[in-house]
Amino acid sequence: MLGETEQGIDAGLVRVAARVAGGERVTADDARFLWTHASDAELKRLASLVRARFHDPRRATYMVMRIINYTNVCVAQCDYCAFYVLPNQAGGYVLTRDDVFAKIDDLLEHGGDLVGFNGGFNPRLPLHYYADLFAAVRARYGDRVEFYALTIAELMYLADRADLSFGEAAARLRDAGVHWITGGGSEILTEGFRARHSKFKYTVEQYFQAQRAVVDAGLKTTATMVIGFDETLDERLEHLQRTRDFQDECRRDGLEGVFSFLCWTYKPYGTAFAGREISPNEYHRHLALSRIFLDNVAHVRTSVLTQNENAFAGLEYGADDFDLPLEDEVTQKAGATISRDMDRLLAIPREMGYTVEYRRAQRPPALTHA
Ligand code: SF4
Repeated sequence: MLGETEQGIDAGLVRVAARVAGGERVTADDARFLWTHASDAELKRLASLVRARFHDPRRATYMVMRIINYTNVCVAQCDYCAFYVLPNQAGGYVLTRDDVFAKIDDLLEHGGDLVGFNGGFNPRLPLHYYADLFAAVRARYGDRVEFYALTIAELMYLADRADLSFGEAAARLRDAGVHWITGGGSEILTEGFRARHSKFKYTVEQYFQAQRAVVDAGLKTTATMVIGFDETLDERLEHLQRTRDFQDECRRDGLEGVFSFLCWTYKPYGTAFAGREISPNEYHRHLALSRIFLDNVAHVRTSVLTQNENAFAGLEYGADDFDLPLEDEVTQKAGATISRDMDRLLAIPREMGYTVEYRRAQRPPALTHA
């Protein structure tokens, strides 16, 4: 039991720091203690130690990407979402295939090669609509672009509508040319959070069942998290614990599991839940805690989409990778702003002393250490 006197806190910090430095795994209690008592400098130092086990300490990688929000019609009604409209409500849309191709062409012109498809749970779009769309994208662009086809949350909805298992639905998308289904739509993975904010979406247990089915189908996946709603520290830690447990199970079974962990921050403008934005410092501290805790995930990504220039300080708090986004209507509707001035953005990490290299979506970087 860690003492809360000044002496006890110092001793506790020394003990947890020694554990991290020695390559030992930290517990949720250790993480709670670090969050509560560790200075920014100490969190940076410990997160950088863990980062250096996976990556060159002064190197960062990035991609230029865009989210294509193919439809804003959604029946899930998450109270933190400013993007959706209900079926038959004014303002609903579904992009045409030509719209999609035009957005991908624009991405290529800006030097990007990664698309993330993300939209609402639209009851008029069945699984085969997506399979046909992704097959058409693969046929037209081949390996010139990679795409994150949907999120685990969307896959669950489509499987349910098609009366298929998660594995069957994932296999159909894989056979249409899909390589990735990301861990998006997870926000905070606790049953309490889901009940408060997103009760029509899924249970946490279902989420991990679906993600395991995706991995078992031979697809790549990622872990994500969104902070800054009304979640408690315990809920953040539970999310991290479940992510680490999922990764342990995958590794135990000889699978890659999640390629990366990306955390971004809630934007509260125009949403039913409202609320306030958290500070960049709180975001950076959480990145560090995630880097320290997720000792079995190679990449921790910092969010330019929601933190803009502040995202790059995340490299000092354990992150090693980031996206430069061209578009994401979901977060833009809730207040995110996007700059397309790539040179200006990339100058920031370079001025911080990082070598910044483009990471092709098809070829994840090799680890420098195990
Ligand atoms: S966050 Fe996604 S699932 Fe939830 S209401 Fe918005 S579009 Fe629908």
